[in-house]
Amino acid sequence: MAEFSIIRQYFQSLTSQSLASTASADVGIGDDCAVTTPPQGMQLVSCVDTLVAGRHFPLDTSAHAIGWKSVAVNLSDLAAMGATAHSILLALSLPKIEDAWLTEFSRGIAECCKAYNVQLIGGDTTQSQTLTVSITALGWIQTGQAILRSGAQVGDLIVVSGEIGSAAYALRHPNSTLQATLDYPQPQLALGQSLVGFASSMIDISDGLAQDLGHILSASQVGAEIQVAQIPVADELAQLTVEQHFNDVLAGGDDYQLCFTISPDHFQRWQAQYAQSGVTPVTVIGQIQQEMACHYFYQNQKITPKKSGYQHFA
Ligand code: ADP
Ligand code: MG
Repeated sequence: MAEFSIIRQYFQSLTSQSLASTASADVGIGDDCAVTTPPQGMQLVSCVDTLVAGRHFPLDTSAHAIGWKSVAVNLSDLAAMGATAHSILLALSLPKIEDAWLTEFSRGIAECCKAYNVQLIGGDTTQSQTLTVSITALGWIQTGQAILRSGAQVGDLIVVSGEIGSAAYALRHPNSTLQATLDYPQPQLALGQSLVGFASSMIDISDGLAQDLGHILSASQVGAEIQVAQIPVADELAQLTVEQHFNDVLAGGDDYQLCFTISPDHFQRWQAQYAQSGVTPVTVIGQIQQEMACHYFYQNQKITPKKSGYQHFA
């Protein structure tokens, strides 16, 4: 099958099916570029993430999950800025053309796009030895409102969404009850948008909470104190030894939850407005300090995480 038939069969058709009219581009798949009209008063927010088979997901991951996850991890980056997602571009490198695989993969892409009201507006299709899925995501933010990593202030609360460490647990325990957290991450777009005007800094947790929080701290030139026992975890993790618990929760990665800082006053006001609105529940896990170090406490004892997070070139 030629490149063009693949595009037509698996991606062009998928686009029109998954389209929500509010999110549509002026020109989608089929020309040299897509064309989109930016909404007034908005800035373009863009990111790209590449998933390599055997590196970012196990080789036996289902095609459907690979499709979903490669979209979700990019939408998670948009969520971390407080942005509204608009569209994605898909660069796909395939070792071979298998109808069953492509059908499931494009179904996973379509379902994630539909769930978050995002349109596939273009891409590129090539052959290579290793399956590689690279997605560029585009979104909008009201001018000047993007939530950066660099805004944390001394005294701000440190807050995380959802439960942390589940995906790392699932990776170590194949077919566990937490498998879906690894295969089908849920980007926190609604929560991220609700925090615009409230949070002082934000990041999505992709490489381990300790490492990703570290990015906020160094960008903001501040430190932190974290109460490890307050970090919300699934029941499965509560059974682990303390050391395994720390590894999954602080250094695990693949959580795709949000970690943000917010002043106590803003937090109260945000809670009054949004805590009952259906966004993912959030939990305070610590506070920003002046001293530029991150201290972790567990049962009143200071602990040192062994490994701070996922290293791409380790
Ligand atoms: P060009 O040679 O100009 O780069 P291509 O032949 O690569 O064009 O692509 C033709 C059209 O199909 C373009 O609109 C491109 O965005 C789209 N396209 C190619 N591959 C994909 C894909 N994997 N997913 C979505 N759209 C794709
Ligand atoms: Mg091309």
